[in-house]
Amino acid sequence: MTEVVVVGGGIIGLTTAVRLLEAGHQVRVISADPPERTVSSVAAAVWYPTHFDADDRVLRWGQRTLTELAKQASEGVPGVTMRDSRMLLRGETAIPWWAVGVPEFRLEPAPDERFTGEWRFTVPAVQTRSYLYWLIEVVEALGGTVEQRRLGSLAEAGELAPVVVNATGLAARELVPDPAVHAIRGRILVLTNPGITVSYRDSDDPEGGIYVHPRSRDVVVGGTFEPGQEDISPDATVAESILRRCTALVPELAQARVLREAAGLRPGRYGGPRLEEDAPLPGGSRLIHCYGHGGAGITLSWGCADEVTDQVAARAEA
Ligand SMILES: Cc1cc2nc3c(=O)[nH]c(=O)nc-3n(C[C@H](O)[C@H](O)[C@H](O)COP(=O)(O)OP(=O)(O)OC[C@H]3O[C@@H](n4cnc5c(N)ncnc54)[C@H](O)[C@@H]3O)c2cc1C
Repeated sequence: MTEVVVVGGGIIGLTTAVRLLEAGHQVRVISADPPERTVSSVAAAVWYPTHFDADDRVLRWGQRTLTELAKQASEGVPGVTMRDSRMLLRGETAIPWWAVGVPEFRLEPAPDERFTGEWRFTVPAVQTRSYLYWLIEVVEALGGTVEQRRLGSLAEAGELAPVVVNATGLAARELVPDPAVHAIRGRILVLTNPGITVSYRDSDDPEGGIYVHPRSRDVVVGGTFEPGQEDISPDATVAESILRRCTALVPELAQARVLREAAGLRPGRYGGPRLEEDAPLPGGSRLIHCYGHGGAGITLSWGCADEVTDQVAARAEA
């Protein structure tokens, strides 16, 4: 058993805390923000390795996460459902690299002349805000703690435990510091669900990518993917464009009511997510990074949590 401080209470920090506790470690999560103020709470969130080129690590983490979330959906974990999905294609229709292990993945003919074909598949969708609260309950039930406090540095966490996991998302840019980390703004709207049960994507819409993701209690429509943009104040023009284009794709949305607009900064990282052990902190504590998951933190979460847990064990046993 090792004492571990996990810095970060978004999807990455909380899933990692659960896995570490299950492995028998003593875990303290420290998060600057409550769950509803994390980027994770803004996520749509549907399993999809958004904007990643073929990468064995991403494939491995994604497959593990898909398996875990599918299991949770079958066990009735609140807010986790399996969702039939339609990816409408305007160009290349080749089967994507991440399709391995995705249930019921198939290429089908285009539904109309705007498209060249469509991928159909079934993946988990997560009602993120309630899911983060459920994860906190699991952490506490397993004997871990979650406290709200902003640390000034990772070295501060090192004063609290011999192992520190850095799951601070975009804040890793300053805390590590890591200049490869950058913000990718995403704007979405949350609507009432007029009865939609299938998830839709049209990434090559001439006015920008769009998606429609029904969840257990609402529908998320989006969205933008804007590297380098950090202003998350509301933008009525973008919201109107998202709503208009999503309604053109899924006409049932005309019956939906807007519940809220939201924007979040995805923790992008040139070179992909960083999951590795760094040099020890000033007092000698081990430091394991797990950040930079871009637009796919929910998609990769449980796979990364497993791997961080393996890394903690590997050295603890050595
Ligand atoms: C609009 C939008 C849609 C998205 N859709 C999807 C999707 O469909 N599927 C998907 O997989 N992903 C999606 N994402 C991406 C996903 O939200 C992110 O990849 C994921 O949330 C990153 O999780 P994280 O835990 O690393 O970061 P965060 O959720 O940002 O958590 C970081 C944590 O670190 C804490 N922290 C930071 N600094 C400090 C400090 N100094 N001291 C203590 N704590 C600190 C914060 O308080 C927070 O708890 C979407 C993102 C957006 C914005």
